[in-house]
Amino acid sequence: MPFDFAEDERMIIDLVGKFVDEKLMPLEKDIMAREAAGEPVALLPGEEEPLLAECRELGLWALDAPEDFGGANLPTTVMLAIQEKLKSTVTPFIFPPDSPNLHMLEAVATPEQKEKYMLPYAQGEAKSCIAISEPGAGGDPAQMKTRAVREGDEWVINGRKIWVSNVPKADFIILMAATDPDKGARGGITAFIVEKGTKGFIIEREIPMIGGARTYELIMDDLRLKDSQVLGEVGAGFAPMQKRLTVRRLEMGAMCVGMAQRALDMMVEHTQQRETFGTKLSDRQAIQWWIADGATKIHAARLMVMDAAQKQDRGEDVRTVASMIKVFATEMATEIIDQAMQSFGAMGMAREMPFAIMGQRLRLARIYEGPTEVHRMVIARRVLKGQA
Ligand SMILES: Cc1cc2nc3c(=O)[nH]c(=O)nc-3n(C[C@H](O)[C@H](O)[C@H](O)COP(=O)(O)OP(=O)(O)OC[C@H]3O[C@@H](n4cnc5c(N)ncnc54)[C@H](O)[C@@H]3O)c2cc1C
Repeated sequence: MPFDFAEDERMIIDLVGKFVDEKLMPLEKDIMAREAAGEPVALLPGEEEPLLAECRELGLWALDAPEDFGGANLPTTVMLAIQEKLKSTVTPFIFPPDSPNLHMLEAVATPEQKEKYMLPYAQGEAKSCIAISEPGAGGDPAQMKTRAVREGDEWVINGRKIWVSNVPKADFIILMAATDPDKGARGGITAFIVEKGTKGFIIEREIPMIGGARTYELIMDDLRLKDSQVLGEVGAGFAPMQKRLTVRRLEMGAMCVGMAQRALDMMVEHTQQRETFGTKLSDRQAIQWWIADGATKIHAARLMVMDAAQKQDRGEDVRTVASMIKVFATEMATEIIDQAMQSFGAMGMAREMPFAIMGQRLRLARIYEGPTEVHRMVIARRVLKGQA
């Protein structure tokens, strides 16, 4: 890890490493079998609950929540080092709560909303998701058509969202809607908090994605909300939403490093054992270059992630570096996992190996939180303006 962590931080990171090795890795076999059978790639309640109980006992809980919300208030650097370890396995698990919505709530929720929504969320007792994308507006969310109109003391919301993750388990949904379509991202988009079961909020269908993931299409049909459900200022929802997306994009960088490191480690071990034509694979220059280039790119990505984490902890604007990380890390990990698969031959194609799930997760990761090409456009715009 290219970073000088304090001793107590190092202890938490090591504890996570042990948790991953001892508790999550042994479940991989079942997770891979579910993926092979076309089932959701998720833990069953009977598997997840004891893990949650154990990590709560270990203090692996509310790690980046503020202290007055019962959290450990860990810095981004430590959170991303933890993320790297957690994503080295294909067993899907997080230490509650999921960070991005926590940071959005912390930034803009009213004291009453913090008490009602953020407190149980920070303490891992409530779940949430965010609905931004629409059938006609994904990579360019400023074009969203879901409309919130003021009627008396209510907001009336109509529209459709798609590709939204984690909907069925969410106790509340952060819903983005246009309150002034002419203004778009500059003053026309508002965030709302919608509680599960609110009349007019309809889960239209579940969409199976590659890699055993699931997303959902949602309909808002005369959904009526009070002012108390507006998250942040009316018309000013885009900036905190971007802040939230940035938290996830940095996490994705750490996820890619974790997956790529695991694939590289497996390739290193395998190619030193496997002989073809009387020579170990690791003695071949073709393989050595994969190993050398892979190790170099992982090192570069890890440094990028840690640099961004430090900047984020100092309160600097990391939107552009988060875009750079999302592009570089997803492409880096895609390449390394593909080479690891190649080095294993037919075994690399087997669904008994973690590569298939990793590869599919990375394929998804090049789309969600903004497609690669959109991030390249954003980076280029900033560089051309001399702002990066
Ligand atoms: C697994 C998964 C989970 C998701 N979870 C959520 C969620 O929880 N909540 C939510 O709101 N959304 C979610 N999404 C949606 C995701 O954010 C969008 O799919 C994404 O932003 C892209 O939007 P789109 O699908 O409409 O593609 P489009 O915007 O139509 O883009 C399609 C393609 O066009 C190209 N393209 C677009 N713009 C440009 C450009 N400017 N320059 C060059 N090429 C371009 C890119 O190749 C892009 O992939 C999820 C998506 C996936 C796959």
